[in-house]
Amino acid sequence: MDKHDCEVLVLGGGPGGYVAAIRAGQLGLNTILVEKDALGGICLNVGCIPSKALIHMADTFSHMQKAAEGAVPGVSVAPPSVDLPGVMTWKDGIVERLTGGVGGLLKKSGVTVLSGTGRMRDGKTCIVETVDGQITIGARHIVLAPGSETIELEALPFGGPVISSTQALALDTLPTKLVVVGGGYIGLELGTAFAKFGVDVTIVEATGHLLPQYDRELSSLVGKRLKDLGVDVLLDTKAVAMSDKGDVLEVAGPDGVAQNLEADKVLVTVGRRARLKGWGLSELGLAMNGSAIRIDAQCRTSMTDVFAIGDVTGEPMLAHRAMAQGNVVAEIIAGKRRSFEPAAIPAVCFTDPEIVSVGFSADEAKANGYEVKVGKFPLLANGRAMTLDATQGFVRVVARKDNDLVLGMQAAGQNISEFSSAFALALEMGATLEDVAATIHAHPTQGEGIQEAAMLALGKGLHI
Ligand code: FAD
Ligand code: NAD
Repeated sequence: MDKHDCEVLVLGGGPGGYVAAIRAGQLGLNTILVEKDALGGICLNVGCIPSKALIHMADTFSHMQKAAEGAVPGVSVAPPSVDLPGVMTWKDGIVERLTGGVGGLLKKSGVTVLSGTGRMRDGKTCIVETVDGQITIGARHIVLAPGSETIELEALPFGGPVISSTQALALDTLPTKLVVVGGGYIGLELGTAFAKFGVDVTIVEATGHLLPQYDRELSSLVGKRLKDLGVDVLLDTKAVAMSDKGDVLEVAGPDGVAQNLEADKVLVTVGRRARLKGWGLSELGLAMNGSAIRIDAQCRTSMTDVFAIGDVTGEPMLAHRAMAQGNVVAEIIAGKRRSFEPAAIPAVCFTDPEIVSVGFSADEAKANGYEVKVGKFPLLANGRAMTLDATQGFVRVVARKDNDLVLGMQAAGQNISEFSSAFALALEMGATLEDVAATIHAHPTQGEGIQEAAMLALGKGLHI
């Protein structure tokens, strides 16, 4: 059996693991990254990137269809058609470019990538099963980044018409009737995209509102747009079982009232959970935080020199959190004083309209003991939004009443996900309402809404 020693062993090559490995390599640490599938993890291969590619093409198709229906002033085109395999080939090309790029960056940083399944034997040793046999790696520091896995419903096991997001992102034909079980991030992002491609979509959500992670002012705009797109939304409803023939999904609505929904595909998106099996968690016996690995502010687990990052450490399961943790951990291992204590982790949902939330909503701020000032500026009054023919949405700023410190920023609108950077920067820099209001925002941009929302909170709104 081959035996290698290194300074840092990273288990898992998703956004958390590959960033940790690149940074460790850049800092001159002898680093080995073990990945059992493709570099880039869920995010690059079957998550963030492919889903956004599909959403973009669905938007393109939907704009063309609107033009064909005579609903775009001054533009007319013939009715468009969808070539789904063509869309998927384009999407796969982006994935290949990005995952290839990650391989190149790891190489450039001097990281050794080992293709195989790793299993921790103890806090210093990992056994890797490769196609050429077993390799034992001894490491001074371990970074665990094995990610998460899709939650399967017992009543609706994956197979046949019941699919996960991974299969939905690789379909070669569009379903006629798609039922999406779970009205959270994935269900709404992909459900909206399929609806725009012309699929008859029904969304079944167990709670009383869509996107329960977001406040209702944001999620209600998404619900309204889904209605306009002809998507049926069933709230307080749970999936019960698929018919024997596999073409009807039985659901139980409020008070258990049963309903049968015809479907040729049922996409189950009821959440993800930390991946706790298959890599030796039981051998390490790490302390847990519920169903995720417990970490401190330096991403240290309960075992000395064993760190954990990304989805395996629980919510929020977001790629940018995993990457930020990976960066911090590599620097800590290299001896720098770092911790993972962000002022806020931006949350963005790529629905229509897109929604973004950074920091506290007004209700969350109040629940945390703050008295607040709120400024909300509608995109209806924003010139750029008018020229984009996309005035559904708003920008909201929440600040402390006593000293105007910004506690949270939210927005809904077209391409508004890009606001997450400005929002996160404002919170991280400790901006006050005056800072935001006095910053010159270029005209004409939707970003002027940020400045206007801050001005409104200060009682000196200009354009409303
Ligand atoms: P992962 O990406 O899960 O990577 C873990 C890696 O570890 C995998 O490559 C796996 O093969 C490897 N591994 C596991 N066990 C072993 C082992 N024993 N040996 C070797 N290798 C192993 N997040 C966002 O921020 N924005 C989005 O828009 C977004 N969209 C998403 C869309 C979809 C459809 C899905 C499913 C997820 C989306 N996410 C999004 C979530 C995001 O993908 C995850 O938060 C992110 O990938 C987590 O990164 P990670 O490094 O912790 O784990
Ligand atoms: P989610 O937690 O966002 O949503 C799951 C939804 O399913 C919830 O609304 C929940 O109430 C509902 N649900 C649970 N059980 C149900 C049942 N039996 N019947 C009907 N509804 C049920 O989970 P997801 O959409 O699977 O996404 C997983 C994770 O991936 C997200 O939490 C997020 O961390 C990440 N993600 C992020 C983005 C982004 O950042 N834009 C996009 C996609 C995924």
